[in-house]
Amino acid sequence: MKRFPAGQPTNERCPRAASPENSRESESTAKYIGKMAVGALAGASAILAAGNMYTAYRAYTPSPEPDLSKNVLAALEVHDIAMDGATITCREMPSDRDNGLTQSGGVYTYKIPGVWQHPTTVVHMNTRHCQEALAGLDAIDSAQPLEPSQVDALVTVFHEREHTRGVIDEATAECTALQKFGGWLESKDNSSMQTLAEPMRSTHNERLSAEYMSLECRPGGALDITGKSDEPTSTAFLPRG
Ligand SMILES: [Zn+2]
Repeated sequence: MKRFPAGQPTNERCPRAASPENSRESESTAKYIGKMAVGALAGASAILAAGNMYTAYRAYTPSPEPDLSKNVLAALEVHDIAMDGATITCREMPSDRDNGLTQSGGVYTYKIPGVWQHPTTVVHMNTRHCQEALAGLDAIDSAQPLEPSQVDALVTVFHEREHTRGVIDEATAECTALQKFGGWLESKDNSSMQTLAEPMRSTHNERLSAEYMSLECRPGGALDITGKSDEPTSTAFLPRG
């Protein structure tokens, strides 16, 4: 069981989709409590009794889909997207009632002020994104172009995977994910590569909230990992500044 370390740690999540500030706290708390409740009910009971946190937990009803999770993980492996021992859990995730967006994925981390802890190796993905990722991998197999929703789901996988490897900064995780997704897609010789590049570049900064963006995420920028990664990379999807 993980207890809150001393010093009021904060759970952080990775909502890889634009998400306003006002929904963050309750969702973060809910997910952290949810995790604790699974791990150790006894320890969590006192915390669950604490008013707003309990409400938040009740509002969030995790229902993992083990078969879907297993299928996604297996399909990723078949398609050369190495998870390095990290796992995927597909489940419904909170919607954002204000703008209609739904959280796409996340990993759990917690922090003592000033000291980040390593993220866990469990990637949580929205059920819909799991299904879209699978559909995208199927499209690759049948040499069909990828739909934007499939791209988004797959980039989410690449993004969350960076967190499981210890990348905390959202803009770094996102920029690395875009380049590794691009390199991976290029290696599959998929016809989407050319048609996707321009729309992805031009809409990237509109789809994500500020913490996911960096002016250094461009070809030649500080977040360009060309020549620095063991995996195939491409700058085709990077914003052009
Ligand atoms: Zn993230």
